[in-house]
Parts: sequence; structure tokens; C-alpha cells
Amino acid sequence: MSEAAQRIVHYSVRDGIAVITLNNPPVNSLGNALRAAIMEYLKKAEGDPAVKGAVLIGSAKAFSGGADIREFNKPREKPDLAELNDQQDAMTKPLVAAIGGFALGGGLELALACHFRIALPKSQLGLPEVKLGLLPGSGGTQRLPRIIAMAEALRMMTSGNPIAAERAKLLGLVDEIVEGDLLEAAVLFLHRLLKEGRPRRRIRDMQAKVDGDPKAFFAQAREQVAREWKGYPAPLEIVACAQAALTRPFDEGRKFERERFAHLVNTTESKALRHMFFAERQTTRVPGVPEDTPVREIRKAAVVGAGTMGGGIAMCFANAGIPVTVVEMKQEALDKGLSSIRSNYAGTVAKGRLKHEEMERRMSLITPSLKLEDMSDADIIVEAVFERMDVKQDLFKKLEVTAKPGAILATNTSTLDVDLIAEATQRPQDVIGTHFFSPANVMRLLEVVRGKQTGKDVLATTLKLGKTLKKLPVVSGVCDGFIGNRMLEKYVQQSLFLLDEGATPAQVDAALQKWGLAMGPFAMYDMAGNDIGWEIRKRRAKERPEMVYSKFADRICELGRFGQKTGKGFYRYEAGNRKPIPDPEVETLLQSYRKEIGVETRQVSDEEIVARCMYALANEGAYILEEGIALRASDIDMVYLAGYGFPPYRGGPMFHADSVGLDKVLAAIERFQKGYQGAQWKPAPLLAKFAKEGKRFNV
Ligand code: NAD
Repeated sequence: MSEAAQRIVHYSVRDGIAVITLNNPPVNSLGNALRAAIMEYLKKAEGDPAVKGAVLIGSAKAFSGGADIREFNKPREKPDLAELNDQQDAMTKPLVAAIGGFALGGGLELALACHFRIALPKSQLGLPEVKLGLLPGSGGTQRLPRIIAMAEALRMMTSGNPIAAERAKLLGLVDEIVEGDLLEAAVLFLHRLLKEGRPRRRIRDMQAKVDGDPKAFFAQAREQVAREWKGYPAPLEIVACAQAALTRPFDEGRKFERERFAHLVNTTESKALRHMFFAERQTTRVPGVPEDTPVREIRKAAVVGAGTMGGGIAMCFANAGIPVTVVEMKQEALDKGLSSIRSNYAGTVAKGRLKHEEMERRMSLITPSLKLEDMSDADIIVEAVFERMDVKQDLFKKLEVTAKPGAILATNTSTLDVDLIAEATQRPQDVIGTHFFSPANVMRLLEVVRGKQTGKDVLATTLKLGKTLKKLPVVSGVCDGFIGNRMLEKYVQQSLFLLDEGATPAQVDAALQKWGLAMGPFAMYDMAGNDIGWEIRKRRAKERPEMVYSKFADRICELGRFGQKTGKGFYRYEAGNRKPIPDPEVETLLQSYRKEIGVETRQVSDEEIVARCMYALANEGAYILEEGIALRASDIDMVYLAGYGFPPYRGGPMFHADSVGLDKVLAAIERFQKGYQGAQWKPAPLLAKFAKEGKRFNV
């Protein structure tokens, strides 16, 4: 065995028991070398007459976190996990998995192919493959329902959520929970087995069972997962495999499982979910700002403005245990802000998701004030005042005096130039944009806007803080709308043009929702308030007259149809109900608007709706990428996945365009250029280049 293999798996014999220790930090992922080494040591233990039994053990943190995801879609070296499992089954000597920490995915499959399992009280066991659009492909779907109740096995495999050791013991997945030294306990356990002459127990020899009629049981299971996992193919395949565990012999069931795994691993949905998994881990990697960049310590925070955003941002700090001072101009606004925070927490308490004492503890971390001087000990100040350059610059000038040296000065602006805000101070290196999304205490996305002069340490600190606040920080350069809203503008533009041409708000929303978006655009505008976009358009008409949009959006606002808050918008709403109801009045308005602009109504297909809206996003994304506003295509995807209700199984707008094929996307855009308002379509040079070269945005 190679030296490298010996380093990642240790072998020793203790009191007649072979101890095979996995030592492949950080999580004992089951890569090629690890599997080969375990295989060899199992054979060694089996062949050594002095050895009476064997223990497989990992570290205190991880028995094993499972397969190395990077090996998927690549030819796997021998032995694969199934072959290793066969060797485990073939052992005539009892084999115990000693589970410290977590046993997940392939890690649990490795443990399931052992004859017994013991665990520490804090251990976690799970089969999370479904979260990557896959199924447990090394016998997991066949072994788990043979050792625990079918319904429980399905729950574990289709939710992907791990269970704690205690529950695993209750279900029969774990034979014993032990305290103290895990290895010592495993050796004692084996000695006891040997003394009692208990036979080794292979799960493959057991019979799965269901209560009641199996056909009805699985029909119900299929119906449930189809409902809970719309658009995701893996959960249904898991149910099919579990059914095979009941109806077919083990080896046949496992063959079926392999086929279904091979099918899933090549689906766009699984590729999208795996893309998202890696994309999420990339966003804080910034070229030129290494991981070890010194960061400033954030012990205290301050927020200026206790409106919609300021209140939510203050809650983010309090939730993370960071004391925060909230400053307003007037007592009334301050009281209103604090009482919104309190009622927000109270709502969570009422739902049973937060303890009352915890709410009080968090409230006690929030200090209201009317004086900017009260923020002089804050390590970061987040400004969330009115969206006006003069107001923001005036505030930043004052912060120059009141903020302590070295404090980070962050702005929550959504549309203003962060560099101009920075210019108002003598310390532009301390200024950065922290663009939270509404509601700030709920939404995961945080666009971290790097100004021209933002210090590297300020960027590194803000990215770290984003994680502390349990956000997903994505770096954006300075531009109008940053990554998310700049792209959204093109999507909004197309959604409205579609109405001009003959579609209805309900049709556009239904097509996009069916495709997978959490919410269609018109329901979203009504929820956010149509007056907000109206205000922005009025300002833009002066600043950027080249931006053409359908005036129908203005017509809606001129009638006071601001959306949910006025009971009418692109839809109508019944009192106390947020459900959008198609409104014949809007249809009539649309018809007369189309006449007025001289557009003949045509039938618009759902396919065209999706293509126009999605390619509008991807095309603008390509500009953003080319301009260096986003560091990588996967960051753009994460913005949409974490902040705009984009379905994970589509992987984000850039990944979606990649999946369609950039040549096809370009051809569609060229077709759109010949249609209604075609001049608004300008294929991004990067898209055209990649389409020609057969490349993808996501490499
Ligand atoms: P808001 O009108 O609800 O709140 C602004 C608050 O700031 C008000 O309570 C006001 O009294 C206070 N304020 C104004 N000037 C002040 C000053 N000099 N000192 C202290 N307090 C002052 O607005 P909002 O929706 O919370 O937006 C705040 C900022 O966040 C804006 O820049 C906005 O563009 C941005 N933003 C808003 C959203 C959103 O969905 N609402 C999302 C992202 C970013």
C-alpha cells in the first residue's frame, strides 16, 4: 500500500480486534484512495487468524461525510463503494462501525454495510443525497428500509435531513449508544458479541416490511413527494428504489438503484443542485483578497435609520449576538421602528419558533438613540436612510466626525453610486455597500458592494460579517442596481412588453411559476408596491432616457393601483387576503392600451414567456460578468438563488442559459431582436463570443 494511503487509513490490532481508522480530514470523504485502503485492510483483517473481529472508525468529528462530490460525473477508480460494501458483506468476522460525529451519505452507506453500528450521543446519521438531486447510490436505498421502518427510511432519504444518535437507536439503525472513548467501547462491544457467540448480522439478508397494503403505501408516498418536491426528480426515484427494496431480492434492488442513480446524476436538475453547492462556497473567494487577509473586529454595530430596512438589519445583528445602536432623527420614527422590531420578534415567538426569553435577550442588545454621537464605539455603521444622494452624503460627512477611526461605514443603498457616497468622507477606504434584501432579517442574500477605494480588509471583514449574520454575501462592483436589480430591470421590461403584445399578468405569472419561480413577476410587483418602481421610473426618465419600458406600468399606478396595499394592482385582492385574483378591469385597460400604442394582440406561448424573461436575465448577466461587476457567473446564479426565489433545480439564470446552450440562447435573442421592441435586445458581446466558441458562463 502506498504511503499516502497509509496516511489516510490506519490499521492496528488491539486485543484481537482489527482497528481500521479513517484519517482523511476534514470529513473522511470517501475518495478513491480511501476506499482502496479500507478494502485492503478489510481483507488483511479477514485473512489474519489472530484477528477475531474488526472496527471501522473515523474521527471525533466525522465517521465519514460521504462521497467526494467532485468525483461525480467522472470515471471512478476501483473499488467503488458498492464493491467495498461487498467486501464488508463477505467478511466472516463481525464488523462494527463506530460512529463518532456524523455519518452522512456514502459514510452512512459504509456504516450500513457493517454488521453492527455503535455511536456517540452527539452523532448524526443521514442520507442527504436528495439535496444534490441524487439518491444514495451504494445500497443505501436497499439497506436502510431493511433495518428501519419503511416510512422512516423514506423520510430520511427524501428529506435528506440527518437524525440524531438517540433517534437512530430508537429506530434500530444504531445498536448501542456509548459514552466516553468510542474505540474502547467498540472493542468491548465486539468482545461481548464474540463471547455471546452472536452471529454477524448482514442487513442485506433482512426483509423490508411495510404496514398495510404495499401498493397503497407507495402510491401515497409518491403522491406526497411529488407534492413536496415539484420539479425535483430524485425523491420519486428514491420511492421507486425503496419499493424495490421491498419487492426485489437485494442484488436486483441494488442494480435498480445503480441504474436510477446513473440516470439522476446526468439530469440537469442534479447538475444544477451540485452547481449551487459549489457556487455557495465560492462567493467569498475574491482574487487579490486572500483568505488570511487581516480582518477588523466587529464587536459593536450601529444602524442609521429605523425604517423598513434599518429595523431588519438591526435584528440581524441582534440575532447574531452583536449589540447594535439604532439612530433615528425623530423620537416618533425611533419608537415606530423599535415597535416594529418588537412585533416582528413577537410574531416569531407566537409561531413557537423563538423563546420569549430569547426575544427579550435580543431586544436588550438593541439600543435606540437620537444622537449620532452614540455610535462612536461602533465597529461598523450601516446606513439605511432615505434613498437620496444628498441625504446620504450629508450623513457620511457627519460620520466623518462621529465614527471612531477604523469603523466600517456601510451603505444599504439599492441604486446610488457607492463611490460618490464614499467621496463625502476623508476615509473612502472604510466605505462599502451592504445591500440587504427585504425583509432584511429573513432574506439570505447580501450584496457586498466594493467601491473603487474600499480597503481589502474592509471587504474581507464585511464578507466575514455577512456569514456571521447568516447571510450569503456576494461581491458586486458599483453599477446602477448592482447585480440583482440591474438584471431584474431587463426581466421587468420583458414581462411588461409581453402584456403589450397580448399576454395577461396571470398568464405570465403562471408560465414562470410552472417553470419553477417562487412567484411570478406581476404578483411580485403587487406585493412590493407598484409605486416604488413608478418613482424609480420617473427619476430614470430624466437620468437614463434610453431605457424604454411599457407605459402600462405607469397607467396602473396613475389609477392608484399600487398592489396589495391598495387592494388593486395588476390583480385585485380581497380584504385580508394576499391571493392575486385576475381582474377584468386590467384586461380592459390592457386592450385599450394596446390599441393606443397600435399593437395587435397575438397569442403568446408559455415557452416564449419563459425564454424572454430568462434570457433577459442571462444577457444582462453576461454584461455584468464582462464588466467585472460580478466576479464569476456562479456568483450571479447565487444572487438569484438566494435573493430572487429562483428554483435551485434550475441552478440560476447563468447556469440555465448554459444548460440550454449559449448558441441557442443567442439565436433566440436574435429572433427577439426582430420582434416587438426588438431594439431593446442587445446580445452581450461575451454571450456572442461564448456561443461561437461553444463555451459556458460557468466553467
Ligand atoms: P424607509 O423610508 O422605510 O426608512 C428610512 C428611515 O431613515 C426613516 O425611518 C427615516 O426617518 C430615517 N432617516 C432618514 N434620514 C435620516 C438621518 N439623517 N438620520 C437618521 N435617520 C434618518 O426606507 P427603507 O425602505 O428602509 O430604505 C432605506 C434604504 O435601504 C434606502 O437606501 C433604500 O434604497 C435601501 N433599500 C431598501 C429596500 C427595500 O426593499 N425597502 C431594499 C434594499 C435596500
